[in-house]
Amino acid sequence: MNQKNCDDRISIKDALPRLYASVAQTLRRDRPELLEQLESLYLVDRCKCGMDGCVSFTCESADARFAPINSRRPLSYPLDDIHGWYSVSEDGVLAGFEILDDYEDEYVSSRLADSGLGFNFRSSATKVEKRHENLDKNGSARTFEAESATETEKQSTNSVYMTAGSTQHLIDYRLKVQGYEPKEIAEFAEAAMASTARPEATIIRGAQYPSLVSVAVRDLVTQRVCEVRMPLNKVGGGFEARSLVPEDPLARGVRNGRALTP
Ligand SMILES: [Zn+2]
Repeated sequence: MNQKNCDDRISIKDALPRLYASVAQTLRRDRPELLEQLESLYLVDRCKCGMDGCVSFTCESADARFAPINSRRPLSYPLDDIHGWYSVSEDGVLAGFEILDDYEDEYVSSRLADSGLGFNFRSSATKVEKRHENLDKNGSARTFEAESATETEKQSTNSVYMTAGSTQHLIDYRLKVQGYEPKEIAEFAEAAMASTARPEATIIRGAQYPSLVSVAVRDLVTQRVCEVRMPLNKVGGGFEARSLVPEDPLARGVRNGRALTP
């Protein structure tokens, strides 16, 4: 049953049609059962972490069957053409969009601002460094990138650090919005930094996004097993850990062809 929308609610479909179309395409392939929810989602709030590039936002469904998501400890699934994830609560509710790097024309940021979720403060410290590679259609350049990501990690194990912005992102988004606990975040960080974690480089729209991934991390509350991804941003002197993303291991399957495994 559809609830009548309140007048001040702005749907994602209306506010962010470009992102909406992209997400719909991803869901059609990966999680078609979520398409119905996507249509009824409206904007609730925007992450105010101040980390450069973060345009993460939360949403709720106007449809009563998909009640608000706070504290439901969602797992994350990768989006296709923007560096981010959609998250799905344990009970199958679309919980929000964690997006760490906007489109080049700052589409998401400007459309969120147009929708009343403007945000003036921006960290001036970092700008996401992208390397545009001439990838051939066979992906042979990707293999090369995976190797160089491995090299990079070996050389800089001690210079992965949290900046104020990324720490605030974990506090605002992962803790306050998604209901994870500080000790879990610490455990996620430990797992992602462990020697068994593997470096990956994801290519999205020609830009390379490095990360460290640790498999089989147990959620202390739900006992679910997840993978933890630590997206990295190369900055002067090392890598900024931009987030700690608890991914559903199933996401690896749908990511096939995009992720690079050394
Ligand atoms: Zn943020």
